[in-house]
Amino acid sequence: MKHGKKTTGRATASSKHQAGKQSEPGEPIPATVTSKSGAIKAKLPGALYVVATPIGNLGDISARALETLNNVDVIACEDTRVTGILLQRFAITTPMTPYHDHNAERARPQLIARLQEGAAVALVSDAGTPLISDPGYKLVRACADAGIACIPLPGPSALVAALSVAGLPTDQVLFAGFLPAKSGARRETVQGLKTLAATLVFYEAPQRITESLRDLAAVLGPRAAAVCRELSKMHEEIRRGTLAELAAAYEAGATARGEIVIVVAGAAVEQAAVDDAEIDAALRDALATMSVRDAAETVAQALNQPKRQIYARALVLGKK
Ligand code: SAM
Repeated sequence: MKHGKKTTGRATASSKHQAGKQSEPGEPIPATVTSKSGAIKAKLPGALYVVATPIGNLGDISARALETLNNVDVIACEDTRVTGILLQRFAITTPMTPYHDHNAERARPQLIARLQEGAAVALVSDAGTPLISDPGYKLVRACADAGIACIPLPGPSALVAALSVAGLPTDQVLFAGFLPAKSGARRETVQGLKTLAATLVFYEAPQRITESLRDLAAVLGPRAAAVCRELSKMHEEIRRGTLAELAAAYEAGATARGEIVIVVAGAAVEQAAVDDAEIDAALRDALATMSVRDAAETVAQALNQPKRQIYARALVLGKK
């Protein structure tokens, strides 16, 4: 069955016990159904609604997320106790069903069957955006294969929150999830990322932060990095420095409690591979038709070189 019609917002009598039942054209519009909180319940079109939830501050939930969680037939969540706290806070009484790594193989076909009957199902994780180091990928894949619409409700994610404050380039980013817990495997994984120009993002557990930073420093060298801890929570902290400086700070006893994202500058690849003669030739060409500033910018971008250095050289060549 194909889904994907946008919600009209029109309230019908569909209740959670009538999952998927739609009003027929011409049918009298039944009484509005309200939840315990008094919010109007409106039947949503059958689809999987992938809903981002706060990573700390409950105020970060979106109005659309609340409306959707209130109106779907069921909420598939990692831990009903965790999601229960969120729902209680906003007086949402929609039933929950567990969907996590340990029951997914059993729960997925049941959810797909309900979706095929026309149910509106929300997928949430304990915090942040589902599928981002959280369950849900196989459920979305199964929906896609079955022609069931998947509707994203964007919102908080520690990945994006960390990038927004790390102070490192965001034009290219590689999200590497959690590093392996053992040092040997961790160094091997990091080695595989060493030549990438993209900014690297890792999720990390507080008990491993020092050793992970040490391994990152040992493999990647003196790169700029940021440790973003407890984002959007009371003890939020953004600590910046080189990888070795950050490792030293935690070794010296800096607080490492809570939830952590490590952001690391990408490799300055290819910069050493371009020789001065090549840069000069490119600059001379560019200076024939462009201002010093434009020529420097064009060449720096084309040869993936630091702008400041190329600009300095362009000034010299421009005067000759
Ligand atoms: N799906 C989530 C998201 O969109 O960010 C991530 C879930 S993953 C299981 C949990 C990890 O995300 C934590 O161990 C931590 O590395 C990171 N994280 C989650 N909330 C965070 C926060 N408030 N501050 C910093 N890191 C956070």
